[in-house]
Amino acid sequence: MSDTCIFCKIVSKDTKATVVYQDEQVTAFRDLHPVAPTHILIVPNKHIESVGRLEVEDEQVIGHIFTVARKLAVDEGIAEGGYRMITNTGGDGGQTVFHLHVHLIGGQRMRHPMG
Ligand code: AMP
Ligand code: ZN
Repeated sequence: MSDTCIFCKIVSKDTKATVVYQDEQVTAFRDLHPVAPTHILIVPNKHIESVGRLEVEDEQVIGHIFTVARKLAVDEGIAEGGYRMITNTGGDGGQTVFHLHVHLIGGQRMRHPMG
């Protein structure tokens, strides 16, 4: 846990968010500025700054984020239509919150190209 990290504070319930799923490994909550009808952020409960700071021991939680995403897509009614998952890393990647997170975005047709 980082004292200054907004996502750590959401995980520990010290800051309000619309949490849609939580277990001992991950927390999922609605993005404050949604870009589509469904826009959920899924984060490890443990503070990991970014993909750039991942260790081999984190592989299990990263895999778990994907299976939680699959479940949330069903709950949100977007599993059939399809959805996009994005993880930004570092400045050029567009990362603005430095607690690793996966955006789960759907409910409308995604636009291309991604870059
Ligand atoms: P990124 O640019 O990939 O680091 O994404 C950070 C995301 O976090 C952005 O989409 C923000 O809208 C979202 N965000 C920032 N603060 C909060 C918050 N307190 N609760 C929910 N979403 C947030
Ligand atoms: Zn954090």
